[in-house]
Amino acid sequence: MKQTHHSISLVDGSLPGAAINRVVAAMTALAVLLGTAAFLQLWPFRPITSVSLAALLVFSAATLWVSKNSSWKPTRVHHKGAAVLTGTGVVGLIVSIAGAGMAWPMVMFWLGIGTTTAGATWMIAARYAGAQRGLDNHGTMINPVTNRGATGWMLGIVMTGFYVLIYWYPTALEGLTRTTDPLSWLLRGKAADHWFMYSLVYSLAVVVMGVRALYKYRHVRYQQIRTWSVMLVQVLLAFIIPSILVLFQQPEFYFSYFWPLKWTYLWPGEYGIGWILESGGRTGVFMVFWGGVMSFVATPVLTYFYGKRWYCSWVCGCGGMAETLGDPYRHLAPRSTNSWRLERWMIHGVLAVIVLATALLWINSATAGGLFGSFSGAVAKTYGFIFGSIWAGVIGVGFYPFLGTRIWCRFGCPMAAILGLQQRFFSRFRITTNGAQCISCGNCSAYCEMGIDVRWYAQRGQNIVRASCVGCGICSTVCPRGVLKLENGPLEGRLNGPVLIDRDEVDVIDLPEFK
Ligand code: SF4
Ligand code: SF4
Repeated sequence: MKQTHHSISLVDGSLPGAAINRVVAAMTALAVLLGTAAFLQLWPFRPITSVSLAALLVFSAATLWVSKNSSWKPTRVHHKGAAVLTGTGVVGLIVSIAGAGMAWPMVMFWLGIGTTTAGATWMIAARYAGAQRGLDNHGTMINPVTNRGATGWMLGIVMTGFYVLIYWYPTALEGLTRTTDPLSWLLRGKAADHWFMYSLVYSLAVVVMGVRALYKYRHVRYQQIRTWSVMLVQVLLAFIIPSILVLFQQPEFYFSYFWPLKWTYLWPGEYGIGWILESGGRTGVFMVFWGGVMSFVATPVLTYFYGKRWYCSWVCGCGGMAETLGDPYRHLAPRSTNSWRLERWMIHGVLAVIVLATALLWINSATAGGLFGSFSGAVAKTYGFIFGSIWAGVIGVGFYPFLGTRIWCRFGCPMAAILGLQQRFFSRFRITTNGAQCISCGNCSAYCEMGIDVRWYAQRGQNIVRASCVGCGICSTVCPRGVLKLENGPLEGRLNGPVLIDRDEVDVIDLPEFK
């Protein structure tokens, strides 16, 4: 029986063109205003800042407009121009790191980070704007960059190396950090540190590769809205707002992360709440209140109605990176039964550790350190080192080209563990399957970033109710037969729904002598 309760349509339909045109017009108008202000040397910014922002707005407006106008047919000149611009940007980045960034921060910022961003966006536009409308995964399985070839390995090593430097040898990136000084002064009122530089690079990666996702999935409304959501959450809640909070001497608080993913937000004392309240005053009280409500009220309620996708695929910064920068690598996800077993042990093990560490810290705080002394502090630091640095950062993102895009989400994230448990047992979310239409092509299983064998369910006509499913909807997007549908419906019949064909019902050789 097909269930059709409150489904989110995955059928053809991109964002309305008129709305996009209005956004493009508004961005262009703002760019003209900023340009005029720079020319007349007026408020609000220094001329160089105004010109920079105007250039950024014009570039974004052009990208948006091109993505919505399929009549644009890029020529070889575009492909080559984009490659040259990106190459120049990469050289600029290397020169910045080598020391030029310290001498000419603004120039090297535009030559390195700015030019790489512009070149990569242009390259993406030229690649997808001319492509046929519809899903384009051409070459993914044979391209060495996306299928563990030599260039894929090189990219993985560079990404992993970047994380190693950021966490343990930030001085090696001093030149690059200095190029972000002008932006840091503008947003935070002080010089950049390596975490500000990292946040900027992270946000730009989500935005540039988000543009790629917008192009690639431009025929699917669900993917369009979801991609816009992760891009905006990353830029606003995880970059601009925390920076502005610093400008006003408030705690650098991330409204899109909650305990247990951002474990310190519910930890006592100097590791979390104590620091927020002390440095934030009344704003700090609101932040602690926000963290508590999001962890204990909003999370269970939203997961009940929408499954874990509301967070993992729409809000979370780790998920945002996975769905944008990681999209070309989703097919590399380990999908053996052993990896599934390991995943369950690890993710629930991490959840147990974080719950225990939180309890220990609160007990220690209540006894004024009398029970455990500095032991709980050591637990906090060890957890941060192993899971915050090594697992979430170095392996979680650096290993995209080796092990696919959701390594951290599958094997390490305690938030995903909690959301998954609730999604499995107490949520209205499921993926329904119209098994009669399935042609067993395997696209859905191949592109599931969580390593779920979606086809197995589709062939049986069975609902997919898996703790690990992040509701990205890509299985449905790549299905050529419209078999899969992400839906929210009643709890009844969700887990034990009808199965069209069970494996025990089929005899491959149906001869009497085999009976
Ligand atoms: S089953 Fe589908 S929606 Fe769920 S994680 Fe896999 S591809 Fe995404
Ligand atoms: S992509 Fe669609 S048709 Fe192909 S195996 Fe999966 S459910 Fe079946």
